[in-house]
Amino acid sequence: MTARYAVVGHPVAHSKSPLIHQAFATQLGRVLSYETIDAPPGDFAHVVRQFRQTGGAGLNVTVPYKQEAYALAEQVSPRAEQAGAVNTLAWADGPLTGDNTDGIGLLRDLTHNQRLTLAGRRLLVLGAGGAARGILGPLLEAGPAAVRLVNRTAQRARDLAALFRPLGPVAGGGWEDAAGEGAWDLIINATAASLEGQVPPVPARVVTDRTVCYDLAYADGPTVFLQWAQAAGAARVVDGLGMLVEQAAAAFVLWHGVRPDTAAVIEALRR
Ligand code: NAP
Repeated sequence: MTARYAVVGHPVAHSKSPLIHQAFATQLGRVLSYETIDAPPGDFAHVVRQFRQTGGAGLNVTVPYKQEAYALAEQVSPRAEQAGAVNTLAWADGPLTGDNTDGIGLLRDLTHNQRLTLAGRRLLVLGAGGAARGILGPLLEAGPAAVRLVNRTAQRARDLAALFRPLGPVAGGGWEDAAGEGAWDLIINATAASLEGQVPPVPARVVTDRTVCYDLAYADGPTVFLQWAQAAGAARVVDGLGMLVEQAAAAFVLWHGVRPDTAAVIEALRR
């Protein structure tokens, strides 16, 4: 029987996950099905239960259900525990197990694909939602000199920074706290602003000709944030497509025990 996988979200029709997982499977000579499941609000737990009971083998979880998946899982990995969110569910014949591959997906895109060094560098992270929560732990474990977390709701950034403070030098605040502390080596936009065609209102002077700007969002062309960063003179701009493929690859490893070649899939998606 063909192994069945799916991504659950709301909305989810736009998801590239089916394309990515099918590309991995083809590359490795495996046969699987991977669908999208749109779970209406209040229906997430029911959808997971039904997928499991009807022979499904694993699920990815996307907006807005990552925290609900964390609560639903019977056991979670240390990185899902750290993030308080789950984007991959696996069960085999055992308990419902949650993991979070967003952070390691970003780290692999930054360090392996983009060849960036994070140790000793100064990082500015915009946003304090689910994505920021998922990436902060892996970013801090990479040994940066400083991480400044700024958000529209400043208190949310302060609270999140306080939670991750035991892992490294992170401080939270509002947009105005992004400026006036010297240059940033890497600015990561982890807000949902790009999806609304908006740019977080940090002053353009936070970008220098040595700053790499990374947007977790991706689009057919440069996102509005990346256009803003280019106009501000950034050294390089990168969108989140590589992270998307890398987090999917890490989920693929969990389910199938083998790592696909991500470079080929990123290139195919860019084309
Ligand atoms: P979320 O939990 O809803 O958090 C949204 C964050 O964006 C909050 O910090 C919110 O600020 C801020 N925000 C929303 N609209 C804004 C605006 N117009 N201006 C400034 N800030 C705004 O969403 P999320 O799950 O963290 O996702 C954030 C982004 O990451 C999305 O674009 C998502 O697609 C992307 N993402 C990409 C990948 C990937 O693999 N590439 C993986 C995960 C997420 P407040 O706290 O003030 O509301």
